Amino acid sequence: MKVSVVTGAAGFLGSHLVDKLLSLDYRVIGIDNLITGNLANLEHLKHEPRFDLIIQDVTEYINIPGTIDIIFHFASPASPIDYLELPIQTLKAGSIGTYRTLGMAKVKNCSFCLASTSECYGDPLVHPQSEDYWGNVNPIGPRGVYDEAKRFAEALTMAYHRVHKIPTYIVRIFNTFGPRMRLRDGRVVPAFISQALEGKPLTVFGNGSQTRSFCYVSDLIDGVLALAHSDYHEPINLGNPKEMTILEFAKTICRLAGVPEKIVFEPLPVDDPKQRRPDITRAIRYLGWKPMVDVEEGLKLTIQWFREKLKK
Ligand code: NAD
Ligand code: UDP
Repeated sequence: MKVSVVTGAAGFLGSHLVDKLLSLDYRVIGIDNLITGNLANLEHLKHEPRFDLIIQDVTEYINIPGTIDIIFHFASPASPIDYLELPIQTLKAGSIGTYRTLGMAKVKNCSFCLASTSECYGDPLVHPQSEDYWGNVNPIGPRGVYDEAKRFAEALTMAYHRVHKIPTYIVRIFNTFGPRMRLRDGRVVPAFISQALEGKPLTVFGNGSQTRSFCYVSDLIDGVLALAHSDYHEPINLGNPKEMTILEFAKTICRLAGVPEKIVFEPLPVDDPKQRRPDITRAIRYLGWKPMVDVEEGLKLTIQWFREKLKK
């Protein structure tokens, strides 16, 4: 049985990745310090003998005995609200956390997959974003703690690949959504859905003309696994190229939740990217991957999940 390590296992994406790895018959060791994660995301694995969770900060020395085949480094605050509240922890998870987990990959002689982000492109001047665009990031702005930590993490990953010949993978994840997002993590999908379901107005930042492209979680996780099983070692974008404005998105959520359109406009956060859409030519060419779940279908599943959650 292959052995995998998932940092950030109690988080949104980490917990879905754990489920996918178990379904592919991997043994999984999760690591999480629960700073933004939630044990409820792993509750269903309480009696799963192939899964263990280590409650630990990835910036501390990590010791896992035995063979490991692949490490997925997903631990990091990921919502703008979280990383604005946790700037130093965010910088450390991307820098020291990546250094620790790459060090473990070197010792175990195993593969390594980094969860990077479309934030590497900053407020992009090229649209859509392809992997050879180097980005437009404000290093000292409030979002810089996340963007620069991930850019450093990518640089370190490529250095370990070149110097230590570790099979490394870098996935630049574009906005992904689905069940298990924290109700109040501040990202637009849980924010809008919980506001709609609670009969509150949806808080659109700025005039809502900024764009994003939303990918359903099962597609994203399939892409991560396709990458981790490939021999492609340059960064690769994974996301859904269907782009919409945030105002359009708010209206879509009201319609799908079956509530009247109630919207309030609030100030746009500093350095909020004006447009974002992945160019997924590389993922199609090298992984044969493209998203399969229509955004509205994914939103219906997510709204249903939040509805149940709010009942409890
Ligand atoms: P999340 O906040 O739900 O999960 C992150 C997990 O990492 C949490 O369980 C948290 O407790 C854990 N963590 C944070 N710092 C840690 C540390 N120092 N030591 C141990 N555990 C730590 O966020 P998510 O959306 O699941 O994001 C997972 C990864 O994917 C992150 O690296 C994020 O940057 C990346 N990503 C996500 C998206 C997205 O749309 N969801 C987009 C781009 C990149
Ligand atoms: N946003 C919004 N209202 C909210 C939360 C977010 O209008 O309550 C906007 C935010 O300004 C950004 C977009 O939605 O333009 C996506 O925000 P999110 O925090 O989900 O992630 P980002 O793509 O900015 O990292």
